[in-house]
Amino acid sequence: MRQTNRPDARPRASHFIDGVYVEDDAGETIDVIYPATGEVIATVHAATQAVIDRAFESARAAQAAWAATPPRERGRVLTRAAQILRERNREMSILETMDTGKPLQETLVADATSGADALEYFGGIAAGLTGEHIPLGEDWAYTIREPLGVCVGIGAWNYPTQIACWKAAPALACGNAMVFKPSETTPLCTLKVAEILIEAGLPAGLFNVVQGAGAVGGALTTDPRADKVSLTGSVPTGRKVYSAAAESMKHVTMELGGKSPMLVFDDADLEDAVGGAILGNFYSSGQICTNGTRVFVQKGLRARFVERMAERMRDAVIGDPLDEATNFGPLVSARQMEIVERYLKIAEDEGARRVVGGERLDRPGYWLTPALFDGVTDDMTMAREEIFGPVLSVLEFDDEDEGIARANATEFGLSAGVFTRDIGRAHRVIGRLRAGTCFINSYNDAPVEMPFGGVKMSGIGRENAKAAIEHYSQVKSVYVRMGRVEAPF
Ligand code: NAD
Repeated sequence: MRQTNRPDARPRASHFIDGVYVEDDAGETIDVIYPATGEVIATVHAATQAVIDRAFESARAAQAAWAATPPRERGRVLTRAAQILRERNREMSILETMDTGKPLQETLVADATSGADALEYFGGIAAGLTGEHIPLGEDWAYTIREPLGVCVGIGAWNYPTQIACWKAAPALACGNAMVFKPSETTPLCTLKVAEILIEAGLPAGLFNVVQGAGAVGGALTTDPRADKVSLTGSVPTGRKVYSAAAESMKHVTMELGGKSPMLVFDDADLEDAVGGAILGNFYSSGQICTNGTRVFVQKGLRARFVERMAERMRDAVIGDPLDEATNFGPLVSARQMEIVERYLKIAEDEGARRVVGGERLDRPGYWLTPALFDGVTDDMTMAREEIFGPVLSVLEFDDEDEGIARANATEFGLSAGVFTRDIGRAHRVIGRLRAGTCFINSYNDAPVEMPFGGVKMSGIGRENAKAAIEHYSQVKSVYVRMGRVEAPF
């Protein structure tokens, strides 16, 4: 295992527009804090209206020529960007760790690599994006798949590189331009993605990055020069962005929060189920939208599950995220730590039993140990609201119907998982769970080949796979009459 020294994370300037770094000191100052120590490691400025104008103008100007570029050439640029991203994986992963605090052990395999997968996948299918021929007897029709225009991307702070690539890759493959705003908490990685795209041959203006918090996101969402908004964020923000976008009938993709269930049946492989629940609750310090934070364990297995989970949680290596032996890092910010601590207190006040964890570590930075709660009931706050931190709730259930009904009793519908050795039950249960992204005997896998997204309050639209193409392009229908026009008069 290696220990990496902390490099200088300061970007050349705050924004990246039309192929170059751009600064405007008039924008509000945003400190970038390394979550492992609480130190300020960089400073950026929020975009002013002048910066936003420049981003949209350059995107608009570049988009028409890009849409007219042969799709295989568009694809080639994305494929090259994927290669560069892979070659720089270590450098990008270190930056991702400094932006988010996630351990390097994770970022080396889950961030730039996942971004590269998206660039490679959409680079590969760009040339195959076509319309249809529709026979109508003598007449016929055809469809043309057209880009939407300029798409706005707004990111959350948990996966800055991945989110930027998951949005940019399909958008660019379809012939769109993108103006992207990373989260104000993690502004660094997306600038590097923009640099790499230019280096790979992407014409200037097609992927512009502007910094800022909600006000800048709001300005991007309502701008008449935007044709689509794709947000990754919380449900309250999703509500605001979706309704603001509706004013001008913009296309939307909403990747929002969750309170996803995991159903562990008596016949499950205990080690796999515990491992799945660890991945689904503690990876990225629990700050993952799809996390299976309501772990319903069938009565016969519950006690053993809790015991084994507590044992394995004691093996978590909590420490310097840049040490590759570390597998559990800090929370992203002081604010996030306070939110999680508040939920921990409510959990105990409401009678949940804390088995292990949930302690603040006495060191600079935002450190909480992973927490396991038993005896959680459906009405408790911790079983109803998204905590977005390392807090696992165990709820007991008796039979399949009851488990499914309780799992579905939530406003969210992002993910769901089932652990069982009974193949019939696995598919039957998944068929009845109301969630967009599901797992059987696994949890939190997100390969680019598989559509990703939620139902109910967890979102609308899909990222990844061929499904994403539907959300970054629109179909023009053309009716072709082969005979004479017969008019009534
Ligand atoms: P957030 O909703 O606070 O912010 C998300 C983004 O929206 C940020 O860039 C923020 O600046 C911007 N924003 C805030 N107010 C806005 C407004 N009024 N108009 C436009 N933009 C605005 O979320 P967060 O705290 O950054 O991230 C955590 C949340 O994201 C969790 O709820 C998590 O579940 C969700 N998330 C979802 C997915 C997914 O794919 N479904 C992935 C990661 C995170």
